[in-house]
Amino acid sequence: MGYIEILLELPTDYTEGQLREKIEEELKIKEFLYQIKRKSLDARRKTRIHWQILVSVSSKEIKGEAPAVFPPLNIPYRKRTKKVLVVGSGPAGFFSAFALQKAGFSTTLIERGSDVKKRAEGIREFERTGLFNSVSNYAFGEGGAGTFSDGKLTSRSKHISQEREFIISSYIDAGAPEEIRYMAHPHLGSDNLEKLVEKLREKFLNIGGKVFFETLLEDLKIENGRVSEAVTTSGIFAADEFIIAPGHSAYETYRMLIKRGVGFCTKNFAIGCRIEHPQEIINRAQWGQKSLPGVKAAEYRLTSRGGGSLPVYTFCMCPGGRVISAAAYKNTNIVNGASLYSRDGKFANAACVAGVNLDRLNGRPTSPLEALEWLGSLEESFYKYSDGFKSPFCGIRNFINKKESSGIVETSYPLGLKPAALWELLPVEVSKAIRQGLKDFSRKIKGFEAGIIMGLESKSSSPIQALREENRLSPGFKNLYIAGEGSGRAGGIISSAADGIRAAMAIIESD
Ligand SMILES: Cc1cc2nc3c(=O)[nH]c(=O)nc-3n(C[C@H](O)[C@H](O)[C@H](O)COP(=O)(O)OP(=O)(O)OC[C@H]3O[C@@H](n4cnc5c(N)ncnc54)[C@H](O)[C@@H]3O)c2cc1C
Repeated sequence: MGYIEILLELPTDYTEGQLREKIEEELKIKEFLYQIKRKSLDARRKTRIHWQILVSVSSKEIKGEAPAVFPPLNIPYRKRTKKVLVVGSGPAGFFSAFALQKAGFSTTLIERGSDVKKRAEGIREFERTGLFNSVSNYAFGEGGAGTFSDGKLTSRSKHISQEREFIISSYIDAGAPEEIRYMAHPHLGSDNLEKLVEKLREKFLNIGGKVFFETLLEDLKIENGRVSEAVTTSGIFAADEFIIAPGHSAYETYRMLIKRGVGFCTKNFAIGCRIEHPQEIINRAQWGQKSLPGVKAAEYRLTSRGGGSLPVYTFCMCPGGRVISAAAYKNTNIVNGASLYSRDGKFANAACVAGVNLDRLNGRPTSPLEALEWLGSLEESFYKYSDGFKSPFCGIRNFINKKESSGIVETSYPLGLKPAALWELLPVEVSKAIRQGLKDFSRKIKGFEAGIIMGLESKSSSPIQALREENRLSPGFKNLYIAGEGSGRAGGIISSAADGIRAAMAIIESD
């Protein structure tokens, strides 16, 4: 059997038959097997938008050898006596617990929020009534921050191929579409994620893992550099090794860790707002037409130098998605974005954030606790402005011209909008940079100024970073690992999950 990889160009609405014909035509063969390795949309020329598809073809009619298969992540199983406690069921916590249980440890996963079904109900109720639920919200609950998201699985992290393959395969085994293996911009959608998170939990339980929901880690008992027990709202959990993967919304957990001597430093992060447009504007700007058969909805990724002060960029774009309230606490008001697998909603949204360095912004060194205080106060100030979860907003054109918006605007945000001089609610340097960014983006996307800009987007990355030894331990501790986005060393579903797996592998390899 010979093997070859070829790059094909196919119309956006191609059929499987057309793909086979194209392979036959290109290689002049009749009998073959093929596999899509990579698929990306080439929209550089609006008159000739097409898929670029890399396929591998195996056939007796061709020559060539298949490349060596990249070795998968090796999780060595044996009977082990150690107990591991993992805190947080987001991608980092879940995948670390899953890997440890596969390796033969007795692994317990605790999560402050509810299981995913109850969580979904809590979120629906919140969006209906505006009454905040502290255990079922967009930040806390089974699956972590990424459950009710767009489920983009892109990651800029390098050197995580084995972990990535393990994560993608686990999602596919749990029922995710096979295409997440090869799409250039793979995404799952909240509807798929809700089911996947539940299925993955079942798999973890089936191999002997234990899960406790609505169990908040409140404190750690430490003896001679070893954590001996976790004090939680469901009682004490003793273990030999501890992985804490709390995400970057759990401010009181960060404070407890700092109080208990876990080392953190401040780092650069980003804050800003979310922008929203009718999806049709984005489709027309990117494709030159209202819709494109075979493609869900157009995307964009924009960057600006922000007038030379702070860099500005769009982030976490959700084509055909919704803006949601990602508040983790009842007195804070922040937004984020989500979408369904079909991405067929009327609107497109994305974060528009400016990179900040708090030391520079405040003109003095900022401690990790001060950084948390600073961010928390900003999130509270948006809540105070709206006296609830209405999102402060204005038109993009009005933000640029410093003119407040009035009247009714259409939005996907379910909790209502409140007109605001949004630029005044943000730190001066940030709003200055964002204004410049919006001007630049208006030159890049036709119709961009017709969109709206809303709320505070404060969760693109953590303002603080956990210190880490080479063996991934927290300095000064013999059995404590801080993993995932909460460590300030990962961001997004894939890189956070990979960071969790690496903490698990450190425990596995040292056992
Ligand atoms: C609305 C939204 C949309 C997003 N969209 C995308 C996307 O499309 N693609 C992408 O890659 N990323 C996306 N992200 C970011 C992504 O979700 C996060 O980067 C990722 O979930 C981080 O994983 P994590 O496991 O480190 O932390 P988290 O997912 O935040 O999980 C941490 C978990 O720990 C729990 N926890 C915290 N403190 C405690 C405690 N003291 N005791 C017990 N449990 C605790 C929390 O309840 C939470 O479930 C989105 C985020 C949001 C909010």
